[in-house]
Amino acid sequence: MTDEPPIRIAVVGSGPAGFYAAGHLLKDGAGGHSIDLEVDMLERLPTPWGLVRSGVAPDHPKIKSVTRVYEKTAAHPRFRYFGNVTFGEHVSREDLLAHYHAIVYATGSPADRPLGIPGEDLPGSHAATEFVGWYNGHPDHTHLEFDLLSAERAVVVGNGNVALDVARMLVLAPDELAPTDTADHALAVLARGRVSEVVVLGRRGPAQAAFTNPELLELGELAGADVIVDQAELDRALAVADPHAEQDITSRRNVEILRDYAARAPKGHHKRIVLRFLLSPAAFLPDEHGRLGAVELIRNELVPAPGGGLRAQATDERETIAAGLAFRAIGYRGIPLPGVPFDERSATIPNRAGRVLDPASGAPLPGEYVVGWIKRGPSGVIGTNKKDAQETVDAMLADLAPSGDGGDGGAPAPERGSAHVPSTPDAAAVEALLRSRQPELVTYSGWQAIDRHERALGEPAGRPRVKLTRIEELLEVAAAEQP
Ligand code: NAP
Repeated sequence: MTDEPPIRIAVVGSGPAGFYAAGHLLKDGAGGHSIDLEVDMLERLPTPWGLVRSGVAPDHPKIKSVTRVYEKTAAHPRFRYFGNVTFGEHVSREDLLAHYHAIVYATGSPADRPLGIPGEDLPGSHAATEFVGWYNGHPDHTHLEFDLLSAERAVVVGNGNVALDVARMLVLAPDELAPTDTADHALAVLARGRVSEVVVLGRRGPAQAAFTNPELLELGELAGADVIVDQAELDRALAVADPHAEQDITSRRNVEILRDYAARAPKGHHKRIVLRFLLSPAAFLPDEHGRLGAVELIRNELVPAPGGGLRAQATDERETIAAGLAFRAIGYRGIPLPGVPFDERSATIPNRAGRVLDPASGAPLPGEYVVGWIKRGPSGVIGTNKKDAQETVDAMLADLAPSGDGGDGGAPAPERGSAHVPSTPDAAAVEALLRSRQPELVTYSGWQAIDRHERALGEPAGRPRVKLTRIEELLEVAAAEQP
């Protein structure tokens, strides 16, 4: 440690990417670079953990246990958490640049991507992001309604892990749901849901699917649902060789698992997940009440893509299947932050190795950095963010270090960013500013009160927690215990 005043960093967003960045900063900043660092994390919700709390499926408690790593970071004496603070509303980019040497944007990709087909807005057609937020108790989605009591068949569009999460949640048996932290409002509806068949649609083939192996395997182990794959459809989708997929170990294993599913005799469960391939929805069709009643599908074939690999090309073949519910799980999308550069095409903050770039000059903006999905797009699993955050932190520490002090300080000028000098790098001043703008600010001890409260509610039923899902009740519990 030095006698210099500490370098102060603001991390905007408290999901995995934000926490890995904070963790690396507090560890590495004090280490090889001899920089004395303080980290403040700003979060729009009263609660931290981003998609670990509001995205990871409730029946995946082991994945959620990664928060123990983030709790260690939060316990660091040079870390502060300010929840219920919205960037662009309570605090601006300019405010943060005045108070911090650097800002790390870690806001993820919260929006859904539309399909752009007729009928997409019919009642019964939903974005998977909304359904996932609803069953996970995200306060933005608590009020939504999903009519799981009328529809018998649901269609899920997409071949990624979110599609599998949605499909699984729709068919989990009440006994499988009961011990989870599924939001109570969703638990009540899911447990009584009448959906007996979920059709998952891949626009390409099994070899091109984005599923990961454990998630695909898990479908075959459900207590109350069979997994169905049609052998002829599988063979047809695998008929075109894909050298790229053949080199990919996850893809090869996915194909093996799907071949195994195609060869299996159904166990006779009353629910089923049907995995279908080479099919795209062409239109969502209304029933006589103006709700989603059917999905018109178009058969695709695989053709070489310009950049390599295979893409789906529509044929003339069509079929229509009855379905009262549809979920599009075709990927998330980043949204712009007020005053911060944004690339519309990739829906990310333009950057080089985590340094935010000025769109006009292409040069790094002093003191602005980015991590996670808003840096690289919505891909990878939680752990991917650890390496991603390390790259950004390395770039930041190199920019903060005096020239010649390790890092990539010797890198050519255009590759390196320059340090930003804030006018008021004062911990008390920024806290006072935030409290003046948001009197209902939630500190880390406020979150800990929420956490204890939720866990205590869950304990009698053997559940990890019962989530509070409305902002007012979260604030009430936090306020009772925080200073
Ligand atoms: P994803 O993995 O990118 O999958 C998106 C899927 O949507 C792809 O199969 C894609 O097909 C398809 N798609 C895109 N546009 C389409 C269109 N217009 N019509 C039909 N299909 C379309 O995205 P995700 O499922 O949202 O997951 C996001 C990330 O979170 C992934 O990295 C995922 O692994 C991760 N995640 C992990 C877990 C877990 O570890 N358990 C759980 C949930 C999410 P093409 O390949 O043809 O483009």
